[in-house]
Amino acid sequence: MDPLINLCVSAVLSCSPVGGVPIEDLVSEFNEICSATTLDCENTKVFYAELPSYVAGQAVEYSSGRTAIMLNRKANKSYTSILVHEVAHLVIYAQETKNSKKRSHSGKFQKECNKLRRAFNQNLETCNR
Ligand SMILES: [Zn+2]
Repeated sequence: MDPLINLCVSAVLSCSPVGGVPIEDLVSEFNEICSATTLDCENTKVFYAELPSYVAGQAVEYSSGRTAIMLNRKANKSYTSILVHEVAHLVIYAQETKNSKKRSHSGKFQKECNKLRRAFNQNLETCNR
């Protein structure tokens, strides 16, 4: 299934492999963050994917309406930070109508992302692109 729209390219990694975090741990962490929102957490899949080296994580919505967060195994920043960023994208995305859906790092996104960022003790960089 190809993503209908790529929501976010959360940026900036070096090539230093970290990896090794079991996906189950990241799914638990996702569920914790997600439960602070109104998202349909059960219908969001979180998994490692082959992403370009400069992409830490990506939130997508499929044409079925299901959503997913893909994570780069080689991300060199905290997965909590990446998950907070991508969850904020999904929250905003869910609020928008089909035609207005776009990825953006301003306005509503910043507000939602900063709220989650503070709740989960992440640094300011979390809400940057
Ligand atoms: Zn983003």
